[in-house]
Parts: sequence; C-alpha cells; structure tokens
Amino acid sequence: MTGSTAAPFTADDYRARMRRASRAAADAGLAGLLVAPGPDLVWLTGYAPTAATERLTLLVLAPDREPVLVVPALEAPDAAHAAGAAALTLRDWTDGKDPYALTAGLLGASGHFGISDNAWAMHLLGLQQTLPGTSYASLTQALPMLRAVKDAAELELLAAAGAAADAAFEELRHVPFGGRRESDVAADLAALLRRFGHSQVDFTIVASGPNGADPHHEAGDRVIERGDMVVLDFGGLKDGYGSDTSRTVHVGEPTGEEREVHDLVREAQEAGFRAVRPGVPCQEVDRAARAVIADAGYGEYFIHRTGHGIGVTTHEPPYMIEGEEQPLVPGMCFSVEPGIYLPGRFGVRIEDIVTVTEDGGRRLNNTSREMLIVE
Ligand code: ZN
Ligand code: ZN
Ligand code: ZN
Repeated sequence: MTGSTAAPFTADDYRARMRRASRAAADAGLAGLLVAPGPDLVWLTGYAPTAATERLTLLVLAPDREPVLVVPALEAPDAAHAAGAAALTLRDWTDGKDPYALTAGLLGASGHFGISDNAWAMHLLGLQQTLPGTSYASLTQALPMLRAVKDAAELELLAAAGAAADAAFEELRHVPFGGRRESDVAADLAALLRRFGHSQVDFTIVASGPNGADPHHEAGDRVIERGDMVVLDFGGLKDGYGSDTSRTVHVGEPTGEEREVHDLVREAQEAGFRAVRPGVPCQEVDRAARAVIADAGYGEYFIHRTGHGIGVTTHEPPYMIEGEEQPLVPGMCFSVEPGIYLPGRFGVRIEDIVTVTEDGGRRLNNTSREMLIVE
C-alpha cells in the first residue's frame, strides 16, 4: 500500500473536508492551516507518504483559496495517486531548491496559521525565518474537534474495525493462557487482528498478574500462571479506521476480591456509557465512571482518564477527562475505559468504543463484559 489509505473516500469527500477545515480555520481567526504528513493529512486528502520524510511536505489550506500540496518532486507521483489529489494542486520542489521560499509564496507576508502538531520543528523554523511576519499555533489546540464528528461512512468503518477486534477476542478466548508467555499471547492477538482485516496493529497489551497493575505494560516474557488476571487491550487500523478495546480475563477460578473488582469496573464502564448523550460535557462521562469506583473506595487506583477519541488514529480528541467541557455531538467516537490498578497485585480494565447517537450512545464493541475464565 503506497501513497494513500484504504479508506473508500472520493475526491469530493476530501474536497468537502478541506472546505470544512478552511472554514473552521477562518472561524478560529487563523489565516490558514499548514498540514504535515500524519492523521490530519490522511483525513483531509487520503495521502500518507510511504516513508517519514525529512523533505518538506505540507498541505496549505487558506479560506477562499484552492488547496495546495507542497511536495518533494520525488514523492509527487505517489501524492498524485491519493484520492484527494484530484481536489488540490500539487506544487513540487526539487532537492537543492528552497521549499520554504516556495511555501512562503502561498502564505503571504503575514498572518497567524495553524500548523500540525507533528510538523518537524526544522520546517516550522524554516518558515519563521523566511516569513518573520507570520506566527503559528498548534492545529490540534486551535481546532481540537476538526475530525471529532464522524460522518455516516466513517462510522461504518469504525463499526467494522470494532467488529473485527471483537471477532479477534472471540477467537482468542480459545487459546491457552496458562504456561505461555505474555508475548506469545500478544502474537496470537496480533495475528487474529490481521486475520480479521486489520492492516496495522498498533498495540496488543497482555498484562498478567502484577503486570496488569501497570496500565502501560505492553507484553513481556512473564509466563502467565493459573490464578492470574490478564488485562488485554488491543487495536489498530482496518481500512484506515481504528479499533481499541480491552477485556480482562482470568486464568482458572478467580477469588472473591478479583470478582468484586472486576464487577466494579464493569459497573463503572456501564455508568460511563450511560452518561453518553448529545450536549453532555465530555468530563461528565469521566465523572460518571469515576464515581462508581470512588464510591467503592478504589478511587486512588483509577489512575488515568476515562477515554479518548478514535478515528484515523487510535488516540485523538475528544478526551473524556475532568476539565474537558466540550459537549458531546452525535457522530463523535471515543473509548470508555475505566480501570482499577492494584500495585504489585493485579489490574482490571474494560474498554469499548462508543459513538454518540441522537438520544444516547451506541457501543461499537459488543463482546461480553462479564469476566471471562480462560485456561
Ligand atoms: Zn486470580
Ligand atoms: Zn485500549
Ligand atoms: Zn483506549
């Protein structure tokens, strides 16, 4: 796969997105947007350069002007193949030429522009030097909700990615856990995600026993034992859109305490889900889930936000976090993933992707949230 993503969008779709982004930029008081390779560029044009290139590649969007993609000459043929390329003008530059002078001609001498968070500092510095009258803001900070509300086609792709992750989990429950290393189970999980259509696997967390108390533990050499809780958290991209789900399983019969903690996380996840409806501030989803855990006395062991958005990446705005007052809008998609982490002992996390509907929320992950007993 070179030059573009597998998402089935047309030049018209990308044209509409670029127009929407230009309008949003103008509304935010920006003279335009400078979009570097990464999720925003993929969403706006379908173009994803094959290699992380140090050569300047930049989509210039300005209100009332045609979109222009500044691209290194040797990448231009690939860029021209991206579906969105029909909706924009390519301006290529060859090695030895000054790409900032070329870009400067598109920006004008002054103005406040939004620039991709992941643009190279080298390029931003080059632009600032060439155009001292311009200034720049983080695109994500200026337009955090640019990609947050998904259209019907995007929702379908996200639902399909979620269903594929669910299918992977349904198969995984049949593999042996006890006596195998976390990394072996993680490899099984990655293979299953690919088998069910993922082109990219972003993470396959298998955190057994005490490792489960570390939310960032990936998968290691630890041999899973009978009696272990095992946190599974996995996802990636299918047809250009993300999946991300967690379930916590137990090897053999759990103790009463393990059941109690798992039930609590399940209730918290349900409470977070039920808080989802249009107009509700993001932080209320976090509060609803957190209250269940705090009321049971485990508040200090829920050590991360409740959720994050998902789309052409597996982590993006909106964030379900205290202080985020952005109201939910139908079409937004994000995780609801409370957890409890007991240091040195075990952890539990349950995560579904949820989309906001006209009157509530709909889960895009639908495997059982009851504790699954594995062998
Ligand atoms: Zn146990
Ligand atoms: Zn996850
Ligand atoms: Zn997540």
